[in-house]
Amino acid sequence: MAMMPTEQAPGFQRRRVGGTVVTAVNDGMILGNFDAVRGIEASAAEAVLRSCFRPVEPTFTINTYLVQDGARNVLIDTGSGSLMGAFGGRLLGNLRAAGLAPGDIDAVLLTHLHIDHVGGLTDAAGAASFERAEIFVAEAEGAFWLDPERAARAPEAMRPAFATAAAALAPYGARVRRFTGLEPIPGIRAESLPGHTPGHTGYRIDGDAGGLLIWGDIVHLPDIQSRRPGVTLAFDIDPVQAEATRRRVFDMAARDRLLVAGMHMHFPGFANVALASEGYALVPALWMPAL
Ligand SMILES: [Zn+2]
Repeated sequence: MAMMPTEQAPGFQRRRVGGTVVTAVNDGMILGNFDAVRGIEASAAEAVLRSCFRPVEPTFTINTYLVQDGARNVLIDTGSGSLMGAFGGRLLGNLRAAGLAPGDIDAVLLTHLHIDHVGGLTDAAGAASFERAEIFVAEAEGAFWLDPERAARAPEAMRPAFATAAAALAPYGARVRRFTGLEPIPGIRAESLPGHTPGHTGYRIDGDAGGLLIWGDIVHLPDIQSRRPGVTLAFDIDPVQAEATRRRVFDMAARDRLLVAGMHMHFPGFANVALASEGYALVPALWMPAL
């Protein structure tokens, strides 16, 4: 008897951006709940999801992005690795499907130091996953999460997040680069997007129209926060600033016709931002059969 397939195609999709190829590489997804969602009633959030034909449990996708310029293979964020159970950890398999081994990664740029972005830096035993890579993190982000005194003073509930950030970077030792400049790697410009975390950083690559902005965690729930940018998450370190940054970035992306990518946008992870009757709409980018 014939079997029905249950495995999806590998979770990666490529686009050409200027002189680079940028590949969205999926790390996993989960149906969650509204416990950490602020600024909207659960019933109203469900109504938005229903109107978008989504499951009424919120869907959290995790993406990473690979940037290849012919000289370097740069990975932006690393997903959750083994730290969030079956939620994530598909990065290395999907990278392999895209033709890369961990040793092929020259640099990892981090948008911020939350578990679902740094978890893939290490394997289940805590050893470095990327044996050659230098790790780049904005100084403001490193100063917040990697300061032992601040970690010791943190509220009990936040201590695990400090410990996770430190443990993820520890095996890289002197290969961790805390940057302050605007272009940590040639051709990839850093854009400060504070609020979700103090050093939350997006990365810009020039190309057609306004090029690509990989905006990190500007959205966690893309269907809801595009329409209602005032919706925040309990994990936002400064929710007021996070909302202001989100509104500023949506406005800029819509005006400048930027291609955007995000770690929690629905896979395959590229979209444009359009003005909508309520807030904004994320319009998925066209899939291209060849670059
Ligand atoms: Zn995140």
